[in-house]
Amino acid sequence: MEKRQFQTESKKLLDMMINSIYTHKEIFLRELISNASDAIDKRYFRSLTEPETGLNRDEYEISISADEASRKLVISDNGCGMTADELENNLGTIAKSGSLDFKSENSADSVDIIGQFGVGFYSAFMVAEKVTVVSKVYGADKAYKWESEGVDGYTLEECEKDAVGTEITLYIKPDSEEEDYCEFLEPYSIQRLVKKYSDYIHYPIRMDFEVNKPVEGKEGETEKVTERRTLNSITPLWRKPAAEISEKEYNNFYTSKFMDYEPPIRVMHYKQEGTVEYTALLYIPSHAPFDYYSKNYEKGLQLYSSGVMVMDKCSEVLPDYFSFVKGLIDSSDISLNISRETLQQDHQLRTISRAVEKKIKSELSKMMETDREKYEKFFKAFGSQLKFGVYSDYGTHKELLQDLIMFTSSNDMKYTTLKEYVSRMPEEQKSIYYACGDAPEKALRLPQAGAVKAKGYELLLLSEDVDEFTLQTLMSYEDKKFVNVATDELDLASEEETKKLNDENESGKELLDFIKEKVGGLHAVKYSAALGDHPAALSSEGGMTIEMARVLSKMPDADSQLSASLVLELNAAHPAVEKIKELYSADKELCAKHCRILANCARVMSGLEIEDPEEFGNLICELLA
Ligand code: ADP
Repeated sequence: MEKRQFQTESKKLLDMMINSIYTHKEIFLRELISNASDAIDKRYFRSLTEPETGLNRDEYEISISADEASRKLVISDNGCGMTADELENNLGTIAKSGSLDFKSENSADSVDIIGQFGVGFYSAFMVAEKVTVVSKVYGADKAYKWESEGVDGYTLEECEKDAVGTEITLYIKPDSEEEDYCEFLEPYSIQRLVKKYSDYIHYPIRMDFEVNKPVEGKEGETEKVTERRTLNSITPLWRKPAAEISEKEYNNFYTSKFMDYEPPIRVMHYKQEGTVEYTALLYIPSHAPFDYYSKNYEKGLQLYSSGVMVMDKCSEVLPDYFSFVKGLIDSSDISLNISRETLQQDHQLRTISRAVEKKIKSELSKMMETDREKYEKFFKAFGSQLKFGVYSDYGTHKELLQDLIMFTSSNDMKYTTLKEYVSRMPEEQKSIYYACGDAPEKALRLPQAGAVKAKGYELLLLSEDVDEFTLQTLMSYEDKKFVNVATDELDLASEEETKKLNDENESGKELLDFIKEKVGGLHAVKYSAALGDHPAALSSEGGMTIEMARVLSKMPDADSQLSASLVLELNAAHPAVEKIKELYSADKELCAKHCRILANCARVMSGLEIEDPEEFGNLICELLA
């Protein structure tokens, strides 16, 4: 028999195909099953006008059988089959897609056809050393056999086959040190692959399993029987109308498909009509996966094209700030590129991404309004990500996200939104005040926070690294400026009080300069009226706050010079400060020691480390002795 050569371009492509296009060898099965499903679609489509050419709807099936001994994997379908010419044209020329021709000839929008590129079939050579395709079309007396061992070329000859359809036999490669191919012959691995990639193919995919069954009437005895099983679910959950799906079904689907032990906190299931049509089934998990806040976490939605999974984690359709969302998008509008795994970001995906973003935002707003408890649970898990979203990309998304974020309120130590905070502001309150600390309680203990609270104003208590950066990015909310209470921006004092303080600072300048010199590392020392009962506190001047400097200095590539311009604020009326004034004239050396102790206490209150703990310990002990 004459061996025919693949066309030259085909040869190169085939070589590339086998070696590089697909990164996972296992997808060959998805490709062959998709082709079989397309072929059945075609036969079914034809039978709509020529009923004699088709079968009953429930007779269509894709059948798989595997034989480990002979290393043969057979995938057969009762679809349209191929004539000798078609075998030659479709399989002899790579990148010649019969499906595409069929689609354009028939403008068959009613048939979902997956194959578009004419390359999927060749993925069989990633796992097989030889592939045989036996095929017969309706009305022909003869069947044809196409056979190839890869780049060498192929043979085509007449053969016997009773039923219309196609049978593809893969002679699976021997196992080697680098690759194990035997899993493609193992029934349970095949079942797993079908579930993974082809679960929602519209026709049943069936395979025989050898199982041990108890023998009736003979206790303890079993016999091997063959059981024919359908491997795929056929109708995807998301294709059913939402009204027909129970909460349990949604949850089971989520926990099994997205590997979570807890049911989701929210389900979104909708069909989008318009320029790009798709169905989305999206879930908001009820807790963050263990690796969520690490580099290992991969965001993305599963992408289906007509029931076939084309990508497991498509990151383009999810913005980073909603990276916690799990789920899938199914659209027959999504164009498949040559390798379905490296789907390029295209126009459709961008359209979908924008719509998905809107949908998630409106769902979160709805949850916040109608089920606050749930929203707070959600926010505990993923709030940092939203806050990070405000800060990232130079604040591009702040409008979108600002009403979804929350901070702890000093009123009741519970979460509040910015809108709620502003709605409670007394008329004379100029700014939105916030304090930072390791925990909300600690932030509230800052001397300046106490003073703001004493004025009757509410504070936002920030305790996460990202928090202040988020507010700095927002800058203001409903025209109210955000003010960190531990900065020179704190604007509580009345004109009169400010004048009095200025006078005090003026007249006490000599002592204040002395303190600045003896303590060191300070930008300024001044009297303040915003310390409540506390003797001293630290604040900052200029854009860099104490909290921001603390966070930034923790970063791996931190600039060691990074620091805030620290101001030591003193409460002139406090006995400890009065003592310093006294000592300044009586005993300068002891005065300097008091100043250093007080300054270190202020550092501790601000969450900063004591620079020289040994010296500090000695100073205290000296006083105690
Ligand atoms: P694609 O499916 O992307 O078009 P393939 O390389 O997978 O490309 O297949 C090439 C062509 O071969 C298909 O378009 C189809 O016309 C034909 N074909 C492949 N498998 C079958 C099958 N099981 N039954 C009928 N035709 C098939």
